[in-house]
Amino acid sequence: MSDFEGLNALVTGGASGIGRATAELLAERGARVAVLDLDPSSVGKPLFAHRADVTDDASVRHAVTAAVADLGGVLDVLVNNAGIGAQGTVEDNPDDEWHRVYDVNVLGMVRTTRACLPHLRASGHAAIVNTCSIAATAGLPHRALYSATKGAVYSLTLAMAADHVREGIRVNCVNPGTVDTPWVGRLLDAAPDPAAERAALEARQPTGRLVSATEVAGAIAYLASPHSGATTGTALAVDGGMQGL
Ligand code: NAD
Repeated sequence: MSDFEGLNALVTGGASGIGRATAELLAERGARVAVLDLDPSSVGKPLFAHRADVTDDASVRHAVTAAVADLGGVLDVLVNNAGIGAQGTVEDNPDDEWHRVYDVNVLGMVRTTRACLPHLRASGHAAIVNTCSIAATAGLPHRALYSATKGAVYSLTLAMAADHVREGIRVNCVNPGTVDTPWVGRLLDAAPDPAAERAALEARQPTGRLVSATEVAGAIAYLASPHSGATTGTALAVDGGMQGL
């Protein structure tokens, strides 16, 4: 498929997991793609790579300017994907930790969108896709802080969709379930018996397996593509049926 031929895309957190799979899929389908990440050293051609910390406004603005220059001046797709996890109930995380995770998962998205909007307006038919989570709406145990950040991402998606629809910018999000990425790998590796922990995690999935990063990338690509041209302000679950079954 070459449905992204002639389009330019920027993916945050694009050096690993869902972001990496998305950047590679968009490039395979014809887009010119720039990746922003804390550590983009593993990202090579055909992707453009820039170091950026989404918690630092100057770093984001600098990297977006450089990325847009690489891509040729216009941005058609922004994938706001950089994010970090947090575990625990409201009693477990001190205020500092709430601020730290909000700064990446929520404000990181705001800073990147703010820096990209002038370039997205220049497209005339742009799409923003935010990586949210089923945690936004599912009421997962021991994920109070993480869920609150993703709830904010969901609300932000709806608000941004309303604000920018008349500028030719659609805004949607994906809500992944448990995705087999380096992030989940790190969590499993920290368990006393990683293989048993993985088997238990898989057994909790209605499909009996974790979601793959390429499956989430496919959903992001759909929401970023002209195939979803009439869709804005929606959340697409990619959760193997976890929510609702
Ligand atoms: P990952 O850890 O494999 O990749 C995340 C990437 O984001 C890394 O390359 C990291 O360097 C980058 N990043 C982190 N902080 C950053 C910062 N301050 N500035 C720039 N880049 C930064 O994780 P993943 O599993 O691919 O997760 C990607 C997104 O998907 C996150 O928003 C996460 O909340 C969401 N998500 C993941 C799952 C899952 O099960 N893996 C489920 C639902 C939602």
